[in-house]
Amino acid sequence: MMSVLSLRNPATGEVFGSVTEASPAEVDAAVAKARRAFAAWSATSLAERLRYLASLRHYLVEHGEELAQKISQATGKVTLEAYMTEIFVTADTIRFYEKHAQQMLSPQPVPTPLVLWPKKSYIHYKPMGVVAVISPWNYPFQLAIIPMLSALVAGNTVILKPSEVTPSTGLLIEELFEIVGLPEGVVTVLHGGREVGSRLVSARPDKIFFTGSVATGKKIMAAAAEHLIPVELELGGKDPMIVFDDAHLERAANGAVWGAFTNSGQVCMSVERLYVHERVYSEFLRLVTEKTKALRQGFPEQAEVGSMTSPQQIGIVRAHIDDALAAGATAVTGGAIQTDSMFLAPTILTGVTPEMKIMREETFGPVLPIVTFSDEAEVIRLVNESPYGLNASVWSADKAKAQRVAEKLLSGNVCINDVIISYANPHLPFGGVKDSGIGRYRGPVGLQAFTHSISIIHDPGSKKREFNWYPYTPDQQLMFSGLTHLLYGKRPKWNLPTLKAIWRELKRLR
Ligand code: NAD
Repeated sequence: MMSVLSLRNPATGEVFGSVTEASPAEVDAAVAKARRAFAAWSATSLAERLRYLASLRHYLVEHGEELAQKISQATGKVTLEAYMTEIFVTADTIRFYEKHAQQMLSPQPVPTPLVLWPKKSYIHYKPMGVVAVISPWNYPFQLAIIPMLSALVAGNTVILKPSEVTPSTGLLIEELFEIVGLPEGVVTVLHGGREVGSRLVSARPDKIFFTGSVATGKKIMAAAAEHLIPVELELGGKDPMIVFDDAHLERAANGAVWGAFTNSGQVCMSVERLYVHERVYSEFLRLVTEKTKALRQGFPEQAEVGSMTSPQQIGIVRAHIDDALAAGATAVTGGAIQTDSMFLAPTILTGVTPEMKIMREETFGPVLPIVTFSDEAEVIRLVNESPYGLNASVWSADKAKAQRVAEKLLSGNVCINDVIISYANPHLPFGGVKDSGIGRYRGPVGLQAFTHSISIIHDPGSKKREFNWYPYTPDQQLMFSGLTHLLYGKRPKWNLPTLKAIWRELKRLR
């Protein structure tokens, strides 16, 4: 039986269409079609692939406002946020590839040690085949399209399985690629939920790029292990913000409010634990509270905070707040969650302790728990106790201290005197440590991650043999022993038998 997903605006409840989920046969057929398309697509020049991207960039620029409105309709986020974080970031990433992909994907010469003379060595970046992108609902456009574009630039064909929570954005992406006019089979969008995702994984794509929860990431990795499919996992976070007593407090307060409540806190990198130095706690709390109370909630414009996107997430946010309040925390703002509303009031909690869910588990909602610390070592320990390690921020006017602390945090990304923003620099790789994921995208390593790095070593081929080849002789032992001492020992071990052995070995080459 065909399942149908409704297209629903979470902020208004309006249902504006539906889409049929892909059947298992359609999933298998899509992978087969993408595999057939791969031969021709991987043989196109990078310049040609980039031309398709440029035409997408032009379309995003011309139709950005309209596209942002559609993303707002799918998610309940305010349109400005949809524009900044989904459209702008995508256009910027395309531009980055137009400028730098050539250099990042060109064969890269590497040095060859003298003992291997006259060989030359280089790395060739080879497309992998069919890349499956499985994406979440919180930034349903850019978290799907940026990995897709990265895979395409690197010469792969792509199958997207967008989130079933925001299916209209999956349709939007499908339409955009039709407008761009990619060859048949180069991009396929398979609509549906976890069954479609799981079928896609078992249809044996050549790489899986997954963004979503830790629980699903583990399932995908286990299923991929059956066929040794490489996986890249961009998972959850419990991102800390550390405010030292010498930080620009007003800036830190503005950063905390935005970092905690943007996209209603449904951000893998949102500030979910705030550690402020005890000396500035009162003033900082006053500032953060005042700024939080000034936020306007609404949809889709003239507001800072939109609605939640996923009704299921509201239950988790509520459980975390209830758990904290029952254990003695105080809601300085917000706190009262009505399950029948998709709008959650931005909530600041004080009096929280490390054992509470709100400090340990990913909340993914507009909640900012604030605690104090008294010294650097203590706060580093508290931050690093988390099983997550996606992003973090350190706020201080002391550059050396901020960098020292940043480098000690177990986190894939760290911002100093800012939040979340590391992701906005496409030159920086992005990804997590510990439960926050495996692998990196963005930056040169992130693009090369969509290729096989093939190591090629090239000998001119004019000698009849090599030093290390058969038949073995006592001369080879003497020669290698002499070389080992010369190259890696404290002093060379030259003697007449060694020199004679080398001479005889040299003659055997010709
Ligand atoms: P999710 O894990 O529930 O779903 C993500 C995607 O996986 C969806 O498309 C879903 O249909 C699919 N899926 C579910 N089960 C599957 C299975 N067994 N096999 C294959 N596919 C399956 O995550 P979500 O609720 O959509 O997203 C929120 C989570 O994503 C949060 O934990 C958040 O922190 C994380 N996230 C991480 C990043 C990052 O870059 N690290 C970015 C955004 C969101």
